[in-house]
Amino acid sequence: MAYKFIDNYRERGARKQLVELLKQKGIADHAVLAAIGKVPRHYFFDETFWNQAYKDIAFPIGEGQTISQPYTVAYQTELLHIKKGDKVLEIGTGCGYQTCILLELGAKVYTIERQEKLYERTIQVLPHMGYQPKFFLGDGSKGIAADAPYDKIIVTAGAPTIPEILLGQLNIGGILVIPVGDEAAQKMVTILKTAENDYEKIVLDTFRFVPLVGEKAW
Ligand code: SAH
Repeated sequence: MAYKFIDNYRERGARKQLVELLKQKGIADHAVLAAIGKVPRHYFFDETFWNQAYKDIAFPIGEGQTISQPYTVAYQTELLHIKKGDKVLEIGTGCGYQTCILLELGAKVYTIERQEKLYERTIQVLPHMGYQPKFFLGDGSKGIAADAPYDKIIVTAGAPTIPEILLGQLNIGGILVIPVGDEAAQKMVTILKTAENDYEKIVLDTFRFVPLVGEKAW
């Protein structure tokens, strides 16, 4: 895939329209909308497909994986209530679009991908775009114990159950956002850690993610 980093008026215009669409679909957090309005999503696409980059759809990125639908990215990000300086663990880097949105919100991002080819590609592309998370290659279903605890954890692949190990890596007051279900559909679940061994769980809308594959997952 040949990358090209040019942000033309056509792409900027399409991005603005995407932000309007997400507002209509119920995304209300201004900071999240502003971040979507800033990150050039077409940079993750081959130029042949730039006309697809600002549609509100998921799109194949190779290795059987997808760049998440913008609505899904905005939805999960909104649930995280990111504050500047939050330490965030993202499980499922993929192409890194969600990573860029978190960085735009001022988070310190630790992101892990299990597929080496995607990892190798993303560690090149993101710094080129000016985004500098901490990248990890491996099984994120176990979290990353060495850098825990985190203020927020976001899982961008569908899990069969909530890996308990992730709850242990959250700060008190921290939030985990994870899609949970079978391979056909998952419910978005948010968990707020109110005290050591005390959690508030909310089950929200239905989504469809690629599976979270690993020791504590599929
Ligand atoms: N965050 C991406 C979406 C990536 S799709 C975006 O912004 O578009 C989900 C990703 O999770 C895939 O790249 C998949 O390879 C990865 N994944 C699945 N199981 C994983 C695991 N156990 N650890 C780390 N990454 C995993």
